[in-house]
Amino acid sequence: MRFDILTIFPEIFSSYLKESIIKRALKKGLIDIHIHDIRKFSKDKHRKVDDIPFGGGAGMVMTPQPLFDTIKHVKKANKGHVIYLTPQGKTFTQIKAENISKKHKEIILICGRYEGIDYRVREALVDEEISIGKFVLTGGELPAMIIIDAVSRLIPNVLGKEKSHLEDSFSKAFKRKKEYPSYTRPAIFKNMKVPEILTSGNHKKIEEWRKKHLK
Ligand code: SAM
Repeated sequence: MRFDILTIFPEIFSSYLKESIIKRALKKGLIDIHIHDIRKFSKDKHRKVDDIPFGGGAGMVMTPQPLFDTIKHVKKANKGHVIYLTPQGKTFTQIKAENISKKHKEIILICGRYEGIDYRVREALVDEEISIGKFVLTGGELPAMIIIDAVSRLIPNVLGKEKSHLEDSFSKAFKRKKEYPSYTRPAIFKNMKVPEILTSGNHKKIEEWRKKHLK
């Protein structure tokens, strides 16, 4: 799966993508992430990417030219699905992550800043608008990382031995809206004991216990 991220803050991504599962998925070539600095495509002599809104109003709006040109550049290598992250989009869910991972091999993620992007970009170039929740963040970078994380872990072999994406209890839990309690070592912590059945090694009984304790 290839992800291309359009942002005016490319550095935001460097630490998150260099850790853990995403780092290993990148190394194994299971995912490929390219970050593009929208500012580099600005034709303004000061590399400006925002301007005041027509008709007045608070804040600035990202201008269309740098975004159109960045997308044109990105599309030479990635012909995929263009997503704009916005609080006005459809709410991102586990099912949405599963659909994206099944349907698309290439994704372009546009991270807005300020009061968002010029509407002409949305009309002409965006295939889908996604919100990660009913709140307003300062930029689309965290939402882009959330989508990449949630989608990547569904790609076969990304989770490796830790957990198959098919056995992902959390994913199943979303469909049935329930999950069972999880425990790990030590079996006794501050006088709190793990339910004995879970340390018994009896898989049939463990499965029954888990079914009974779905919440
Ligand atoms: N004025 C915009 C509005 O009310 O829809 C909010 C702009 S917000 C301050 C700046 C950028 O952050 C947006 O363009 C978007 O890319 C991103 N953003 C903020 N909240 C988001 C959310 N809940 N989901 C996805 N993206 C979000």
